Amino acid sequence: MKNAYIISTGTELLLGTTLDSNSVFLSQKLIELGINIIGKSTVGDKHEQLTRAFALGLESADIIIASGGLGPTFDDLTKIVACELLECELELREEEDKHLREIFAQRHRPMPEINLRQAMFPVEAVALKNSLGTAPGMYLKKNDKLIILLPGPPREMTNMYLDEVEPLLKKDFALDIHKVFRRNIKTLGLGESQVEEKLGDLMHVPDGLAMALLAIDGEIHIRLTAEGQEEQSSRQCLADHSVKIVERMGRNVFAFDDETLLSRVASLLLTRGIRLAVAESCTGGLLSKMITDMAGSSTYFWGGVISYSNEAKQLVLGVKETTLIRHGAVSPENAREMAQGIRQIAGSDFALSITGIAGPDGESPDKPVGLVYIGLAYDGGCDVKELRLGGGRDIIRIISAKSALDLLRRHIEFR
Ligand code: AMP
Ligand code: MG
Repeated sequence: MKNAYIISTGTELLLGTTLDSNSVFLSQKLIELGINIIGKSTVGDKHEQLTRAFALGLESADIIIASGGLGPTFDDLTKIVACELLECELELREEEDKHLREIFAQRHRPMPEINLRQAMFPVEAVALKNSLGTAPGMYLKKNDKLIILLPGPPREMTNMYLDEVEPLLKKDFALDIHKVFRRNIKTLGLGESQVEEKLGDLMHVPDGLAMALLAIDGEIHIRLTAEGQEEQSSRQCLADHSVKIVERMGRNVFAFDDETLLSRVASLLLTRGIRLAVAESCTGGLLSKMITDMAGSSTYFWGGVISYSNEAKQLVLGVKETTLIRHGAVSPENAREMAQGIRQIAGSDFALSITGIAGPDGESPDKPVGLVYIGLAYDGGCDVKELRLGGGRDIIRIISAKSALDLLRRHIEFR
C-alpha cells in the first residue's frame, strides 16, 4: 500500500480567511484509490516553510501531493522548492509556452515575462493541463517518489485531479491498489461511550478490518473498512462483522451507508402509505423543516403547528389549561396532549410532538436545560419519551427533532 503526504500552501490558509478544502478533497479521493494518507501540512507562501513541508513529505511518504503556489508571482514557490529538494533542472517546455501565449493572446494582453516560469518543468516531469486556468500542474516521478503539484483554486484543482492525475495514479499503481470496502452503520439513542461499551468485544476487529466511531449531530456512526488483497475474503470479513454489530446494537441502528434518518423514515412512510403531522414547541419548526427537506414529502407530510406559547398550545392544539398549570409546558402530559391534538386536527395516522427546554435560560431545579419530551400519537395510543440532552441550544434542538423521527421509525419498524 502506498503512503501519501498532502501539502496545502497559501498564507491565506494560515490566517483563517480561506478554508483548506483542497486537502479534504484530496484525502477522500486518494483513500478511494486505496492510498494511505500519513500526514498533512498547511504552510504559508514562504520558501523556508515550503521546504520543511516537502522535506517531511519526501522523508515519510511515497507520494507528495501539494496544492497552491503555481502562479507566476514571487510568492508562488511550490514548484521551485520541490525541484530544489529533488535536484531537478528546469527546462522551458515549448508546448506550455505556446499554450500560455495563446491564453494571453485570447485575452488581448501581452504576456509578462514572469509568466514564463509556469512553462518551466524538470525534464522527467509530466505537465498537467489546466483547462480552467493558466497554471499547469506537475506529475514527477523521481528517486522512487512521486510529486504531484496542483493549482490552488479549488475548481482548477479538482478538475485537474480528476482529469489528469487520477488516471495516471490508476495506471502507475494499478498493482498496488487494494480494494477497499466500507460499511457505515448509523445509530441513534446512545452516546459514543455507551455504543463503545455495548459493542464490547466487537470493538476488537479481525485482521484486515478497521473500525471507527464517529459522533455526528447526535448520531453515532460505526464505520467499518476492510482492505486486503483478497477481494472475496475482505467482503466476507466486513459482512460478518457488520452482522454481529447490527445484532448487538439492535433497534438503535436506523440506516446504513448513504441512507440518512430522514430518507429511512421517508421511505417507511411512503411505502406504507402513512400520513404524519407534527406539533413543535422548542424546535420552532426544525422538525418540519427536516421533513420537508426531502422532495416529495407532501405525499406523507400533512404539515405542522409551531405552538411555541402556552396560548398557542391551548388555542390551536386544545391542550388543557389545567395540564399546563399542573405539569407545565415541559411535561410528558403536555407532549401527549400536543401530539393527540395535532393528530385529531390533521386526521393523520401518526403525529409527533416536541416540547422542552433548549436553553440557555428557562430552567428550574427540577427541569434543567436539555429536558425534552417527545410524543407520538397513533391509532389506539400515545407514547411519550423523555430526553436529557447536553450541549447548547442548537444541538439540543437538532437531537430533539431527530429523536422524534427516530421514535416514529422504531414504532413503525418494531410494532
Ligand atoms: P494559488 O494557486 O496558491 O495562487 O491559490 C489561489 C487561490 O486558491 C487562493 O487564493 C485560495 O483562494 C485558493 N486556495 C488555495 N489553496 C487552497 C486550499 N487548500 N483550499 C481551498 N482553497 C485554496
Ligand atoms: Mg497561493
